Amino acid sequence: MIDACGWEIINRHRFAQDLLPDRRKINTVFGYTSACLPSVLSGSWPDENLHWSYFFHSPETSPIESFRHLDYFPKCIAERRRVRRWLSRFFKWKLGFEGYFDLFNVPFNDLPEFDFNERKSPLKPGGINCGLSIVDHLEELNIPHHVSDPDKSENEDHRDLLQAIDSGNIDFAFSYWPCLDGLLHRVGNDSPLIPQKLAEYESWLKQIQVATQKNYEGVHFYVFSDHGMADFRNPIDIKRTLANLPVKSGKDYSVMLDSTMARFWFLNQGSRQCIEESLLQVKGGRIVSETELKSWHTWFNDHRFWELIYLMDEGNQIVPSHMGLKPMAGMHGYDPFAPHSFASLMTNHSVVPDSIVDLPEIFNLMMDELAWNQGVPYLLKEDTVNAIESPLTSAHSARAVA
Ligand SMILES: [Zn+2]
Repeated sequence: MIDACGWEIINRHRFAQDLLPDRRKINTVFGYTSACLPSVLSGSWPDENLHWSYFFHSPETSPIESFRHLDYFPKCIAERRRVRRWLSRFFKWKLGFEGYFDLFNVPFNDLPEFDFNERKSPLKPGGINCGLSIVDHLEELNIPHHVSDPDKSENEDHRDLLQAIDSGNIDFAFSYWPCLDGLLHRVGNDSPLIPQKLAEYESWLKQIQVATQKNYEGVHFYVFSDHGMADFRNPIDIKRTLANLPVKSGKDYSVMLDSTMARFWFLNQGSRQCIEESLLQVKGGRIVSETELKSWHTWFNDHRFWELIYLMDEGNQIVPSHMGLKPMAGMHGYDPFAPHSFASLMTNHSVVPDSIVDLPEIFNLMMDELAWNQGVPYLLKEDTVNAIESPLTSAHSARAVA
């Protein structure tokens, strides 16, 4: 899984065209990687697995009362990214969280209103809030495997994967490479650094191919992304709009300003109407309807993640936001059907069923490979004419490298 290697990007750069000729557009999941990665790993949508955003509104369960006094830090220090990173690492350790943890630029005074949704890493066994992941199934079925360690870099992960393949001891691998996403955020789609990074990934994929050819009779590669990336267009200052209202954050409402959406919770009657009316005057985004959120499988009856969402049009960013003070060159987390939102799936295995359309369905492909490993024919065969190949005779048949 290559984070942010979306449909637009693979076509523009003809990424891995020779190695992985069968490729298709995949509908992403509304939200950020915090929503997409658990959906891939579990085959379920956010309204089922309860992974959507890192922060959710829950003053009663917030583990971070101790953050409040940090608000006395001078702003010029507290808002420095390096200071925030250091504090994030410290509190992750102190709170015993294993998942992704970042305080971003959320005001310290607001943090006690929120709880963190990813206390365990979805890449580890038992890491899904509600349901099982491919990692749980691998453990349960006792299938020798490699799964990326979230505490290691993608270079280390690539090295570990090659070693595992060279040993011939694994039947399944799931590798997660996050650095293209970080680079696209920093430099945008048009930077010459993007084709350079993609060329590096191609060389990695070729190394994996060569290693598997030495040690296995066959390998099915599936390379996919969780979403794409849209270049920055306009900054939208929601903070200033809110500051001019008679209702106040912390007293009348709570707000989380993500880069591409403002999420609101209302603490008294009247604040909703006031905020909705003010948002209707803001250009560059829209209030997302209940119907849309339900169709995207991101409607939560307890409203833990929002009571109202104001979503930016593709390319626009909330600046400043609780994610940062400046815009990023690229961003994702827009309408899942906006042109640059789509994910991609590429494979050397030309029997991907037509039913693989949405991101969580990539899980079905992986489960299919596990089924074959266990001697069960493809579970998805009804979707695919002539899908079943002769089972490989070798005990060493690597079934999937994502
Ligand atoms: Zn990202």
